[in-house]
Amino acid sequence: MTETAPRPAIPVVELDQIHKSFGEVEVLKGVSVTAHEGEVVALIGSSGSGKSTLLRCINMLEVPDSGTVKIAGETISLTGAPPHRRVSDEAQIRRIRSGLGMVFQQFNLWSHMSVLDNVMEAPILVQKREKAEVRGEAMDMLKKVGIGDKADAYPAQLSGGQQQRAAIARALCINPRVMLFDEPTSALDPELEVEVLRVIKLLADEGRTMILVTHDMEFARSVGDRAIFLHAGKIEEEGSVDEVFGATKSARLRQFLNAASHA
Ligand code: ADP
Ligand code: MG
Repeated sequence: MTETAPRPAIPVVELDQIHKSFGEVEVLKGVSVTAHEGEVVALIGSSGSGKSTLLRCINMLEVPDSGTVKIAGETISLTGAPPHRRVSDEAQIRRIRSGLGMVFQQFNLWSHMSVLDNVMEAPILVQKREKAEVRGEAMDMLKKVGIGDKADAYPAQLSGGQQQRAAIARALCINPRVMLFDEPTSALDPELEVEVLRVIKLLADEGRTMILVTHDMEFARSVGDRAIFLHAGKIEEEGSVDEVFGATKSARLRQFLNAASHA
């Protein structure tokens, strides 16, 4: 019997030596992160450690001062010197962004549009797809996140947890290569948090590539493959979730996890 070779790990997101300062403060001091296809990477660290900034560098909502960002092997072109460094190819970044599903703490739904129209917007406007086809997919996404019955409602008529699930459905509807979550449950009451976490877990189990910033260590451990702890602008520790949470090496990380468990 010949052994089947393990499937090669395909990098979907590659951040290499990212530096980013705001004014005098260097928030990221050379951070490198790779997320492979099907992998869930949990990004943890104290408030202000640069987690959101790092996530925002992936889609160039923040432009790194130096370092490179590759999505599915393609390097995002940048030009100029900091603090005026900027994207040099607008068409490229539009195309790359259309493959990145981003879910923020705040739900960012259009209040004047129904839930279904929110979900259908990007595929129709950005991806120029057929309305009828998109409608079917959008309905499937809403059912998948458990709010198929809210398609015609407006965001204000939904609970926070339902709005966040609508935002997830919207991000999924562009069929992204990777989903980026920035503290998706931190604006929610605990009882509404559960339903959102369940959806994210479902996506992880489906093998979606995800980078997840979260303050919920238990969830990070249950849903993540790898965890990365940011501290003072650098990666202080990284490894499999079992290593990072179960066999913590860094004293700083131990302190952080200890504080998180008593929060
Ligand atoms: P985290 O998400 O880990 O809480 P952030 O990435 O939001 O951390 O912020 C890291 C640091 O960078 C903080 O000190 C924050 O105040 C600062 N910062 C973030 N964005 C900006 C910005 N646009 N302008 C100035 N300072 C910023
Ligand atoms: Mg943040």
